[in-house]
Amino acid sequence: MNLIRVRKGYNIKIGGQPSEELLSISRPGKVAVVPERIPFIKPRLKVKQGDAVQIGSLLFEDKRRPFLKFLSPGGGTVADIDIGHRRVIKKIVIRLDPDERAVDFGFLSESDLVAISRRDLVAKILEGGLWSLLRALPSRDIAPRDAEPPAIFVALDDLEPFQPDPSVYLQDQEPLFLFGLKVLRKLSSRVEVFARQATAGVLKKLNGHITGQVAGRYPADDPGVLLYAIRRSSTENQTWYIRGQDVLLLAHLLKHGNYPTRRTMVVGGNAAQKTGHVHARLGMPLAAFRPFAADGMNTRWISGGVFQGYPTGPDSYMGLYETAITLIPEGLHREFLSFVRPGFNKPSYSRTFLSWFNSSQLPYDSNFHGGLRACIACGHCAKVCPVDILPQLTFKAVLAEAVEEYLALGLMDCVECGLCSYVCPSKIELSSILTAARREYHQEQSQT
Ligand code: SF4
Ligand code: SF4
Repeated sequence: MNLIRVRKGYNIKIGGQPSEELLSISRPGKVAVVPERIPFIKPRLKVKQGDAVQIGSLLFEDKRRPFLKFLSPGGGTVADIDIGHRRVIKKIVIRLDPDERAVDFGFLSESDLVAISRRDLVAKILEGGLWSLLRALPSRDIAPRDAEPPAIFVALDDLEPFQPDPSVYLQDQEPLFLFGLKVLRKLSSRVEVFARQATAGVLKKLNGHITGQVAGRYPADDPGVLLYAIRRSSTENQTWYIRGQDVLLLAHLLKHGNYPTRRTMVVGGNAAQKTGHVHARLGMPLAAFRPFAADGMNTRWISGGVFQGYPTGPDSYMGLYETAITLIPEGLHREFLSFVRPGFNKPSYSRTFLSWFNSSQLPYDSNFHGGLRACIACGHCAKVCPVDILPQLTFKAVLAEAVEEYLALGLMDCVECGLCSYVCPSKIELSSILTAARREYHQEQSQT
């Protein structure tokens, strides 16, 4: 097993680490899909309000790539289709029947899996609506249907605070996971499974299947960072990746012949009165997590981790790729010029804050951004960037629309980790600007 050491990155000290405890959550009355949170797609609706659907019925497809199908995570009636500004489909809500029915896609036995052609397997995954779990580097768009990738990376861990622990989501699921690895090996002759050193030590049943141990700080285990660390030629740039938990969904679809509905999530953060893991329903209303929020606190809800997640709330639903709810205290005031105020209790990267010397976990709220100021050329952003981009120069090239320059500076290697924005004392939104530029460049390229 290879050891991959990632030198750069950064671990923030944030309280509310989810425990391994499995919290119980009641069966929801509704589930939803949230197309606006799936990057790079333009949905074309295939249902209308009042339609009866089963688990696995087609709800919408991508206009540009109609073979990309998005299916219902529940059986019942289409209760609401929320269409926003510029006719963006925000969500499709399904009211669940007490006894839900499911579309039968036909299962594959182990011997069927050996015999099936790659082409037929791709068609089966597309029909079952889970091709979108496979994504291609460097853009992170859904993987192209017709290409065979140089490799598929499986990332078991996610160091972003906070994401599910593989020892929880893989518990008693190892045979299903190994079936999923066989599926991936039909799609690419090279499948690499990565885990943190601590995880690899715990998951004994996967011995011999974990090909790389990862050592380093956030986001060392991101597939783009791993590719940057081990790639030997530019042909590897088109590597695909899938998250460990999504291998289980893919394997469930093919082994059982029906659309999976279970997703292991975490609830964490220092505005959570109880933290832990939850076996949730795909598309679950986030209101189900309300009992875990601390009473009497104005709370910021984040879908996903603190760096790559986005603000949400209890009236929203779990998106396709989401596996975490992070609850932090809502900041009531923006702290302009906060970086020059020494504070022992303030999360900070630079030594400007006394908190740099404080190793205990810190309270954390949504107020840590502050105001926009000019770059002071401190170099913090370059020091943490795990793929050796010079974020401040790349940012300037993006603003100047100097395409060749920002590509030469490595924009497409950016893994959208958010660290450069976090450490910037001038609070320049480097990461979001670079992410938007990457996505726009990819979209332009895919339309030509
Ligand atoms: S440029 Fe910023 S967001 Fe992109 S990989 Fe580097 S630190 Fe992360
Ligand atoms: S961290 Fe911010 S202020 Fe420092 S060099 Fe980067 S962009 Fe400039």
